[in-house]
Amino acid sequence: MKTLDLFEKYVIPNYTRYPVTLVRGEGSYIWDEDGKRYLDFFPGWGCNLLGHCPPRVVEAVRKQLGELIHIPNSWYSRVQGEWAQMLSERSFGGKCFFCNSGTEANEAAIKLIRLHYSSEKKYKIITFEGGFHGRTMGSLSATAQAKYHEGLGPLLPGFVYAPYNDLQAVKEIVENDKEIAAIMLEPIQGEGGVRIPSEEFLKGLRTLCDQKGLLLHFDEVQTGCGRTGTWFAYQRLGVTPDTMSLAKAVSGGLAAGVLMCRSELATSLRPGMHAATFGGNPIAAAGGIATIQMIEEENLLENANRNCEIFLQRFRELQQTCDLIEDVRGRGAMIGIELNMNGTEIVQRCMERGLLINCTHGTVLRLLPAAILTEAEVHAGCDILCDVLKSV
Ligand SMILES: *Cc1c(COP(=O)(O)O)cnc(C)c1O
Repeated sequence: MKTLDLFEKYVIPNYTRYPVTLVRGEGSYIWDEDGKRYLDFFPGWGCNLLGHCPPRVVEAVRKQLGELIHIPNSWYSRVQGEWAQMLSERSFGGKCFFCNSGTEANEAAIKLIRLHYSSEKKYKIITFEGGFHGRTMGSLSATAQAKYHEGLGPLLPGFVYAPYNDLQAVKEIVENDKEIAAIMLEPIQGEGGVRIPSEEFLKGLRTLCDQKGLLLHFDEVQTGCGRTGTWFAYQRLGVTPDTMSLAKAVSGGLAAGVLMCRSELATSLRPGMHAATFGGNPIAAAGGIATIQMIEEENLLENANRNCEIFLQRFRELQQTCDLIEDVRGRGAMIGIELNMNGTEIVQRCMERGLLINCTHGTVLRLLPAAILTEAEVHAGCDILCDVLKSV
């Protein structure tokens, strides 16, 4: 039976898929079953920041597979402890809870926030329009986008939606609602169109949280782990959160999620109140450790920042003559090109020419390229995309 027929017959059709079966990946390239090669500027939907099958991660995982695949969290595992230390030392020095995905990391955050304030009877969380936090019912309820809620109600109560980048609106909500416990947001909105808020907005949220005794949660599932050219996006924005969720790139392309919190908050998630069977398993941990080592040894943060300059320059140059382009923005290996038209056709045409990109929020072309991209590869992909944009 053909692969597409297997899916037709046996797989629940909850995804829109390209009619292409991918079989092999190496670095920034991926091949389909007909042997066609693609330059991948969206590897693994943001998970493969190190490219496809990064040798260091492959090697570490292979070794770990032969030693221990899975043990329950009722025992200690050396690699989980070391992974936590490495994440802590590169962020705000807090503690980690390990799970398997971004949405799970945010669920853990919601629980931590509620448990932390349960005696004060505060439980509400302010989240932002255009934000994206995942698909399970808690994270979905935190996601202030009606299109993801259709037919799924009632949602989990306790979320108050505010306009992104509007500090005054948040202040008014906090002023009028004594049950607000926390503010949760992406420091740069990913799915919402690579939207970068002002520094005053984020600093204002931090000050507000400090004054009113609220927790500030950053969802860095997409922006974290080196994606934006620093270990975490907050580090360039000059605002440190109290809790932070990670997933996507955190384990070199393996399934993993992490909730991090300031050490003083960690006891709120006390034994019995939360768990994840596969969370922090030895394979994910070995992959996570190798990921951090590879980024540091190969100076990939610097490389991502250098590439970002080229991307921005190429598309800003094109913007001078191409009136489809409204705005070009980016940080590290996260680039958004906002068009004044729907971008689906552009993505399709790039694919035909052997370049994989993404379009989000209807009109924003989103690139989440690997941090290992060479300058020549950046230009090769930009040549194709610029060509396609000029021809529309
Ligand atoms: C992808 C994403 C999620 C959801 O992650 P899953 O691993 O798919 O559950 C949550 N928040 C942000 C910001 C994301 O980009």
